[in-house]
Amino acid sequence: MPRIDGFTLLKELQENAETMYIPVIMITSLSATEHEEKGLMLGAVDYITKPFSPIIVKARVKTHIKLYHYRMQFRQEAMLDELTGIANRRGYDHESFRKWHDAIRFKLSFSLCILDIDKFKLYNDTYGHPAGDKVIAAVAESISSHLKRSSDFFARYGGEEFVVILVGNSARSAYEFMMKVRKDVEDMHIPHNSPVSPWVTISAGGITVVPKEGEEYDGYLKLADQMLYNAKEYGRNRVVWSNEKGEQWREK
Ligand code: GH3
Ligand code: MG
Ligand code: MG
Repeated sequence: MPRIDGFTLLKELQENAETMYIPVIMITSLSATEHEEKGLMLGAVDYITKPFSPIIVKARVKTHIKLYHYRMQFRQEAMLDELTGIANRRGYDHESFRKWHDAIRFKLSFSLCILDIDKFKLYNDTYGHPAGDKVIAAVAESISSHLKRSSDFFARYGGEEFVVILVGNSARSAYEFMMKVRKDVEDMHIPHNSPVSPWVTISAGGITVVPKEGEEYDGYLKLADQMLYNAKEYGRNRVVWSNEKGEQWREK
């Protein structure tokens, strides 16, 4: 190979998050055991020395592509929530990290919103846990139907809590967007024996910031959680939002 040797290239591929899962087969004239050892230790899935048989190489490539697809499918399924079909907590951890760093790199606004079904313990107590599960799935579907951009991200954070991440919205537009999301959940008119409303409702807390290098994601997650707490305190079934300056907007 010109410019760079195979071992160095392999190492670079393995260290880059975008390329680390690509299976690499080394084909080389370096036939010494220590070279083969080095290649395999660095993460090559196979090591073939010259002269090689094109048919055998083709067969091995085919095998590794198959294994790669299995692996990717498994990985993807491990990040999905079974009940709702949206991302689970693991998917959220993975994607929020990526989106946060992309926002820093491209100087984009980052909106983080936590949503929680109101008085849901009471719902389970009244209608039973299986009915509660159906509500979680219906709420997830309703919220999902709003998220049409490929940059939007939605996950089940845990239990009856969800997270939405929007990239590129102003604080005001993110806030208005989430108000519509909240209203549409209420407008499904799923009966609930709750002091908040005759229907199932959600509360949401969010923030919009343009994150800068070195800023901690967890600090913003705490702020969004604080906004959700405020939404609950103000009476539930509402959205509370904070912009970068710490100004707070709330419904009702
Ligand atoms: P609040 O308005 O303050 O959020 O009240 P809440 O009752 O929703 O809050 P709390 O945290 O006390 O209760 C959450 C309930 O959500 C308790 C738990 O039984 C229920 N829950 C969590 N995960 C699931 C689930 O997967 N299925 C069902 N059916 N219920 C769940
Ligand atoms: Mg909760
Ligand atoms: Mg709740």
